[in-house]
Amino acid sequence: MISFESTLIETYRLATLPVRSAHRWWMTSQGAVPLGVLFYHRVADEFLTPWTITRRDFERQIDWLSKNFEMISLEECQRRMQTGNSKPALAITFDDGYAENCEWAIPLLLERKIPVTYFVVLDNIVNQRPFLHDLQFGNALPVNTVEQIQALAAAGIEIGGHTRSHPDLGTVTSIAELFDQVVAASTELGLLINRPIRYFAAPFGQLANLSPALFQVAREAGFAGVCSAYGGFNSVSGDSFHIKRIHGDPCFSRLRNWLQYDWRMLNVPDFAYEIPER
Ligand SMILES: [Zn+2]
Repeated sequence: MISFESTLIETYRLATLPVRSAHRWWMTSQGAVPLGVLFYHRVADEFLTPWTITRRDFERQIDWLSKNFEMISLEECQRRMQTGNSKPALAITFDDGYAENCEWAIPLLLERKIPVTYFVVLDNIVNQRPFLHDLQFGNALPVNTVEQIQALAAAGIEIGGHTRSHPDLGTVTSIAELFDQVVAASTELGLLINRPIRYFAAPFGQLANLSPALFQVAREAGFAGVCSAYGGFNSVSGDSFHIKRIHGDPCFSRLRNWLQYDWRMLNVPDFAYEIPER
């Protein structure tokens, strides 16, 4: 059933398409087509939470994304943020580490050769502990095992750090705790998969969940980039260390509207922190 909200979004999208097309033509001519990065959490057909998308909806999105965007890695996304981009391109990420993703969604992406960065919370994986945000919903949903994460890494999926225990880093004022959650936990994760952890995603990822200290600690530790989750495209010539991500919203109309260079998604502010001289 098409909801009233989807109808409204679709009406808005169609009404603004001519303006968007003209703007996209201009961005293409400048080699400045902004880069999209999506984040998903869990692909499953049972125990639907706000951070779960069904297999059917996920496949529909992947079909549409593959037709309309070049599917690239986070590394390639950053390269284009620095050097220019003249066509629609998009990267896929996952947060937290849900076991069901390995049953169907990840095999689908691997089969289609779509690059993926997969961010996991160390303690939940190692101790096989359900996430607090699921327990609060009354669901002890299964998390990935260490063996699954090792298999993902071996299959070519980039494993990223998502802290030790999924705290709100915006409230962490101790540098020692920040270092432990961001750097030490990622180092331990890297040892489990025998590969360095190059990317970090901040839990919750809204502006309030970030801090200048987080970016400083991550940069000094040698991370290649830090992902947020408060929406927005990544502009060319922008700061490529901070990667903004858009929610892989289960509502296809909403996602398509955002990704067709919706004006609001193009104008999401950067997070203010010091960018050191290179
Ligand atoms: Zn998370």
